[in-house]
Amino acid sequence: MGQVIQAGGRTIEMAENSGFCFGVRRAIQITEETLARGGRVYSLGSVIHNPQEIQRLEGLGLRVIEMLEEAVEPGVLIIRSHGVSPATAAAAEARGLELVDATCPLVKRAQSLARKLHDEQYRVVVVGDAKHPEVEAILGYAPGAAVIDGPEGLGDLVTQARLGIVSQTTQSPRRFRETTAEAARRFQGHELRVFHTICNATVDRQAAAMELAGRVDVMIVLGGHNSANTRELARLCTSTGVPTYHLETAEELEEAMLAGRVRVGVTAGASTPAWLVERFIETVKGLDA
Ligand code: SF4
Repeated sequence: MGQVIQAGGRTIEMAENSGFCFGVRRAIQITEETLARGGRVYSLGSVIHNPQEIQRLEGLGLRVIEMLEEAVEPGVLIIRSHGVSPATAAAAEARGLELVDATCPLVKRAQSLARKLHDEQYRVVVVGDAKHPEVEAILGYAPGAAVIDGPEGLGDLVTQARLGIVSQTTQSPRRFRETTAEAARRFQGHELRVFHTICNATVDRQAAAMELAGRVDVMIVLGGHNSANTRELARLCTSTGVPTYHLETAEELEEAMLAGRVRVGVTAGASTPAWLVERFIETVKGLDA
């Protein structure tokens, strides 16, 4: 059971696993340490998918850029937890930028396994979202790899002599199992290697949120509207049948969301900072049931 707070006739319960995962916490810490050194510090894309936390880091001097060409002054480029492809890293260095690598070690593992499979002449398949920056970076380690989001995507890939499968770290374990089981069924007689590169932080957060959703009157899921893992938490909580609201900040809370509901469950995405969660809890405490 997570933290339980009694206030204004309500019980507010936090999901056991919620908020920053270790990879995001590490990336923020690396960013803060780099900013403390002084000088120009860029990140290619947001360090994390949370607008308020990015605003805080920008206040400390971080400059978020979308393209390397925007790094016009010499300085440091933070590689965010999703990682970047070797080509992007090389292009940044060629511009004279110093790289500080905040890639999550679990993402790095998926990158190295994709590279190893590619080097050993496997046809590499990444189970995930082709548009996600983490997957785009992994593809840089295994040029020509296919990206599929489920067993339907296997298509004629199973005619390849050697198939090697890895996963986006935030992929649903069920989807990954279905895909690899189908590959194994259709791939008999060929060589198939499967690496489970799904991160437990995601799985644990989802399980804890769903367990809590089953015991409360309303679920609040805190996190960036642009955060895929937060949206997925909200979707899973909604699927349990409990009224669920995905809020980015305490200001988005409306009294009607909690009206007549005394047991309030709260969870937060892997990129939601603790200070945002605390602010939200303080707001709920100020409302009577
Ligand atoms: S969700 Fe997992 S893989 Fe992604 S940054 Fe967090 S710890 Fe790393």
